[in-house]
Amino acid sequence: MTRKVSILGATGSIGQNTIDLIGRAPDEYDVVALTGAGNIAQLAKDAMALKADVAVTAHDHLLDDLRDALRGSEVQAAAGAAALVESATRPADWIMSAIVGAAGLAPGLAALEQGTTLALANKESLVCAGELVLRTAKTHGTAILPVDSEHSAIFQALIGEDMGSVERIIITASGGAFRDWPIEKLAEATLDQASSHPNWDMGQRITIDSASMFNKAMEVIETHEFFGVGPEQIEALVHPQSMIHALVGFIDGALMAHVGPPDMRHAIGFALHHPERKALPVERLDLAAIGQFEFRAPDEIRWPALRLAREVMEAGGMMGAVFNAAKETALDGFIAGQIKFTQMADVVEDTMSHMAALDRHIAATMTLDNVLQVDHLARKAAQAAIAKRAG
Ligand code: NAD
Ligand code: MG
Repeated sequence: MTRKVSILGATGSIGQNTIDLIGRAPDEYDVVALTGAGNIAQLAKDAMALKADVAVTAHDHLLDDLRDALRGSEVQAAAGAAALVESATRPADWIMSAIVGAAGLAPGLAALEQGTTLALANKESLVCAGELVLRTAKTHGTAILPVDSEHSAIFQALIGEDMGSVERIIITASGGAFRDWPIEKLAEATLDQASSHPNWDMGQRITIDSASMFNKAMEVIETHEFFGVGPEQIEALVHPQSMIHALVGFIDGALMAHVGPPDMRHAIGFALHHPERKALPVERLDLAAIGQFEFRAPDEIRWPALRLAREVMEAGGMMGAVFNAAKETALDGFIAGQIKFTQMADVVEDTMSHMAALDRHIAATMTLDNVLQVDHLARKAAQAAIAKRAG
């Protein structure tokens, strides 16, 4: 029997790895929707190869380009925010949520309302609206399978275990591009330098977030939201090789580690085949050849994002939405050359302090509209913080 699948964010790094796995067994899948943004050629090519029902670009003005690229095929073309959400409501057995940023929240929620299975790579939706995401899944009986490698690892280490016997969760961090740089040089880090990752091949935004540790900060919050563990139970650990993805510590002192090559097709494939395990085309580790695993404590002076993540968890409410929006805006500012690498954390911290005073918003009920409103206000505050610094 074929399974109906959709991929939100199909043209990105996670989307393309998902397509790689599905494309290896085309008879097993019936592709419903593929979505993308500016890369129309890739979107159309994959939609035609996989015989998708619909291809959607996030950008309204690219609808004609998409139609042209799909000419002669039976794939429908659609564009814009409403079309993205609509595509996520089309019946499917498995949906990959792999849009980057808070833009993935609304389509992800629409997919959750299906009552089937959501493979969740879009960590931003858990950071900015964890409670809403989990509540929506619960209401509709939808299973969420985490696709972030650390969270897939935690999920796997917890199979058959009781959450009551979990003492701590350790997520590893490669340390990104600048882990060995002298701290005083970080302010001068260029966009090119921040955009290359020592171990993982990922989208540009998450690669820069790895260098600043904002990615790990988001993942700490994601762990807190998804697994329901307290901030004091979550540790980040620098592990330059990115082969141990996470460890779960139990009350008897045991640590269960998940070990594998740095290849996202493992976490994607685990979510795709769950509850079964199937063979995956990833490298098999030769531990004797690797020789040893290296660990270091994370340095909060080098990486202030980790301290900010703790403040977000302590504040609760909508502070995650503030943090995420400020981080996305600061990242745009760094990419545009308006602020220095190290100023991204300053912008996020300023935005959090500014928004902390807006109790009415921070403590509001978590609905999609309220989250989007906080997201909007935080982006404005972050832009002001950037303008103050831009030279
Ligand atoms: P990417 O930049 O390579 O791809 C992003 C996708 O989102 C593309 O399909 C793009 O067209 C689409 N998109 C971008 N802006 C959009 C918008 N405004 N509206 C709708 N669609 C839009 O990103 P990625 O590295 O594949 O990451 C995707 C998600 O998965 C992110 O949340 C990231 O944090 C998470 N993730 C990625 C990796 C990885 O290895 N790449 C690992 C763990 C988690
Ligand atoms: Mg990760």
